[in-house]
Amino acid sequence: MAEQKRDYYEVLGVDKNADEAAIKKAYRVLAKKYHPDMNPGDAEAEKKFKEASEAYAVLSDPEKRRQYDQYGHAAFDGAGGAGGFGGFDFNSADFSDIFGDIFGDIFGGGRRGGRNNGPMKGANIRTSVRITFEEAVFGVEKEIELTLKDECTACHGTGAKPGTSPETCTKCGGKGQVVFTQQSFFGTVRNVQTCPDCHGTGKVIKDKCPDCRGTGYIANKKKIQVSIPAGIDNGQCVRIRDKGEPGTNGGPRGDLLVEVIVGRHPIFQRQDENIYSTVPMSFAIAALGGDIVIDTVDGKVIYEVKPGTQTDTKVRLKGKGVPSLRNKDVRGDHYVTLVVQVPDKLSHEAKELLKKFDEQTGDTLNAAKNVSSGNADDQPSGGKGKKKFWK
Ligand SMILES: [Zn+2]
Ligand SMILES: [Zn+2]
Repeated sequence: MAEQKRDYYEVLGVDKNADEAAIKKAYRVLAKKYHPDMNPGDAEAEKKFKEASEAYAVLSDPEKRRQYDQYGHAAFDGAGGAGGFGGFDFNSADFSDIFGDIFGDIFGGGRRGGRNNGPMKGANIRTSVRITFEEAVFGVEKEIELTLKDECTACHGTGAKPGTSPETCTKCGGKGQVVFTQQSFFGTVRNVQTCPDCHGTGKVIKDKCPDCRGTGYIANKKKIQVSIPAGIDNGQCVRIRDKGEPGTNGGPRGDLLVEVIVGRHPIFQRQDENIYSTVPMSFAIAALGGDIVIDTVDGKVIYEVKPGTQTDTKVRLKGKGVPSLRNKDVRGDHYVTLVVQVPDKLSHEAKELLKKFDEQTGDTLNAAKNVSSGNADDQPSGGKGKKKFWK
């Protein structure tokens, strides 16, 4: 047989006639003192903690207490045997509120994020705004409309009918959280959950404020100016301080995060701070040189093409790109790809001139004809066979 068990009343240090509150209070003191979290590695403390917990599990339950009063420890000497925990079911004991209290005391509530214990910043709100390519390059002021919560002026955010005030939640004792223990061995697994009765506020409103229906907030449509800086890119956010959800207990409002969605441009593409575009030039300009017009975000630019410029030639227009977000005086470049346009609608006269031109510059048209009218099958490369289909 195991060692003699101490009397439960003696363990908790209470009188045989102690009421529920006195038992709870006594256990609270002991649990706090001997809890394994407070005494890491101390086997004696752990033993005392278990002993006190066992005593409390029995004496806090009216039915078990009655059995204990009548039969003593023998009332629970069942399957688990003396000294074990198997004789009764710890799970049925309500430790949740007492542990909520204890941990609230030990950790000052703050460690577990006790929401009602101090000022809390409100949540951030996210929204988005569409702007054009040019607006992203040069910056723009936008006005957006948004529904924002403001503290209810009738109840000053308490949610309670004017003249009344919210009451401390009895389920969690105002902590906003409850701790559930789910095992017969204490202090190993605890689940901290938001109090289901007060949803973590620690307060319960009996008479709701009629203006805000107890929420403490009134929703208002607001127009908000958004200053979008030059150089912003698609997907980046502009943060507007203090335009998010209201804080609690006097905490500051959250922020408003405005995601910028930049529309596509028909001509320009952007990569970081550089702009890219493709500009057509005629064969004559490419060959002879001359001025062409290039569109940039700063307007039209005249560019002088050098004689003999090949198609796909890249040109850099320095400083015609996107301003840096950090310093709008520093700008990227605009890269232009010059592409020779092949005409597809030619007048009869233009065609004749082109044929003459061709004769002058190597007579490639006739050379091709000679190949296709000859024995095409003799051509060594299969690829050249396609010449047969030329018109
Ligand atoms: Zn109100
Ligand atoms: Zn509660």
